[in-house]
Amino acid sequence: MTGRKHKKAERAGRVLSVASEFAPLVKTGGLADVVGALPSALAAEGWQVRTLLPAYPGLLDRLVSPKVVWSSDDLFGVEARIVAGKLDKSDGAPGLLLLDAQQFFAREGSIYLGKDGRDWPDNPTRFAALSFIAAEIAHAGLSDRWRPDILHAHDWQAGLAPTYLKQRGTRGVATVMTIHNIAFQGLAPATLMGRLRLPQSRFNRDGFEFWGKISALKAGLMDADWITTVSPTYVDELATPAFGMGLDGVIRLRGDRFSGILNGVDLNVWNPRKDRSIAYRYGPRKLDDKRGNTDALAGEFKLEISEGPLFGVVSRLTRQKGLDLLLDTLPELVERGGRLVVLGSGDADLEEGFVEAASRNPDHVAVHIGYDEALSHRIFAGADCILVPSRFEPCGLTQMYALRYGALPLVARTGGLADTVIDANDAAIKAGVATGIQFSPTTAEALSAAIGRMFDLYGKPALWRRMQERAMKHPVGWSESAKAYAALYESLLDESELL
Ligand code: ADP
Repeated sequence: MTGRKHKKAERAGRVLSVASEFAPLVKTGGLADVVGALPSALAAEGWQVRTLLPAYPGLLDRLVSPKVVWSSDDLFGVEARIVAGKLDKSDGAPGLLLLDAQQFFAREGSIYLGKDGRDWPDNPTRFAALSFIAAEIAHAGLSDRWRPDILHAHDWQAGLAPTYLKQRGTRGVATVMTIHNIAFQGLAPATLMGRLRLPQSRFNRDGFEFWGKISALKAGLMDADWITTVSPTYVDELATPAFGMGLDGVIRLRGDRFSGILNGVDLNVWNPRKDRSIAYRYGPRKLDDKRGNTDALAGEFKLEISEGPLFGVVSRLTRQKGLDLLLDTLPELVERGGRLVVLGSGDADLEEGFVEAASRNPDHVAVHIGYDEALSHRIFAGADCILVPSRFEPCGLTQMYALRYGALPLVARTGGLADTVIDANDAAIKAGVATGIQFSPTTAEALSAAIGRMFDLYGKPALWRRMQERAMKHPVGWSESAKAYAALYESLLDESELL
C-alpha cells in the first residue's frame, strides 16, 4: 500500500455538506448538480459526505431507512428535527440529513419563491435556520454519534454556518465556503439579528455587515477557513468590481485563502454511448450516428432537414446568460443556413423574443419554453454546436455536456467557460487540441463574429470531425475535482491539528 493510500484509509474524514439544493431531489440550477455529485465523487477519495438539506414537501418520503437524529422545539421559535436516511438501499454512502421544520419548508411553490413569483419574505430566516443547525451538528454531533471534520457550506443559503460555528466553538472542525454564484448574497435587514441569533459584535466590516444589512454570503466569506469557487478563472474575476458584485473587496482581502475547483459532470448520466433519452447512441469513433439525432431533433421541431449546422441552447433565459445577444445575431445565423433549437425559461422578454423569432422563421428557429431534462439530452445529442454567450459563468455545465456529446461549444471567454473550452485558434488547431470557440467581449458583434468562425469550421468536415473527437475525449468527469477537494480538506485538517 502506498503512503498516500494508507493516509487516506487512516483518515476517512467526514464532511457535512450544507446546501439548499441537491440533484436529483430538488434542483433549480447547477448548484444542485454539484452538491448531488459530491458525495459519491468524494467517497472515491476516501471521504464520507453527509448532505444537510431542508425537508421540502415530498422529500421525507424519498428516504430509505429514515431515522431521527436530532430534534428541538425551538429552532428560531419553531419545532424542528433532522431525519437521516439514504436515497437508495444499495447506496453505501452515509446519505442525507433532512431538516424537517414544517413552518419553514413545508410549503407549496418553488423552494425560494412564493406563488406571486417573489422571494418568500422569510427566506433569510429559513436558510439561517439551516446554517444554524449545520453549526450545531459540527459542534455537538448527532445522536447517531456522527460529527464532521469539515463543514462545507454552499452559496448564501449556507453562508452563515461558518459564523455560527465560530460563535458556538469550532472544536477542530474546519470550514469551507463555496461560491457557486455571487449574484445571490442573502441580504437581510439588520433588525433580524436578534431573531437569527447573530452576534451584534460582528455586525461590522470584518463580519457579516454589508452596507447596513446582514449578508449571509459575506458572513461565510469572512469566517470560513477556506473559500472556493467553481473555476480558476472565476477566482480572478471575482476580485474585480466588474464581477465581484460588491464583494470584490472581501474577495481580495481573503485572496490567500481562496481557490478554484472546476465542477465535473456525471459521466453515467451524460454519456452518448448509453443515453436512453436519445434515438441513436454514438461515441467518438461512431460519430456518423450522431447525424440521426440531428435529423430527429430537426424533425421533432419541424425545422427544415438540411446540411446546415444546427445550433442548440439549454439555459435559464436570463441576462446573465447573454441570450439577448443571440436574439440580435439570429437573423445572420438564419441567413447563413443555420438552424437553432432553444430550451429554457426565465425572463418574459427573452421568452417572448425567442417565441417571436421562431414564429418568423419556423423552418430555422424553434423554442421550447420550460424545463425538460430528456429534451435537453436530445438537444446535446442533436446539435452541432451549443451556444453559451454568458456575461458571467462561474463554471457552467452545459458546455461540458456539449463537449461530451460532440456538439462543439461556442462560449464567451469568462469563468469556467474559459477554463473548459479550448478555442480553435491557429495554434490550437495545429496542435490538435481545439474543442470549440471562445469569444470576447460579450457583445453582439463578437458573438456574431464567433458564429461566423463556427460556420467556417463547419465547412471543413475533416477538421470538424477531429474537433468533435477531441471534444468528446476532453475530461469533464468528477475525478480530478474530487481529488482537489480531498486535498483541500486534508490540508485544512492538517492545519487544525497543528493549532
Ligand atoms: P446555472 O446554474 O447558472 O443555471 P449551469 O450551466 O451551471 O447554469 O447549470 C444549469 C443546469 O440546468 C444544467 O444542468 C442544464 O442542463 C440545466 N438546464 C437549464 N435550463 C434547462 C431547461 N430548460 N431544461 C432542462 N435543463 C435545463
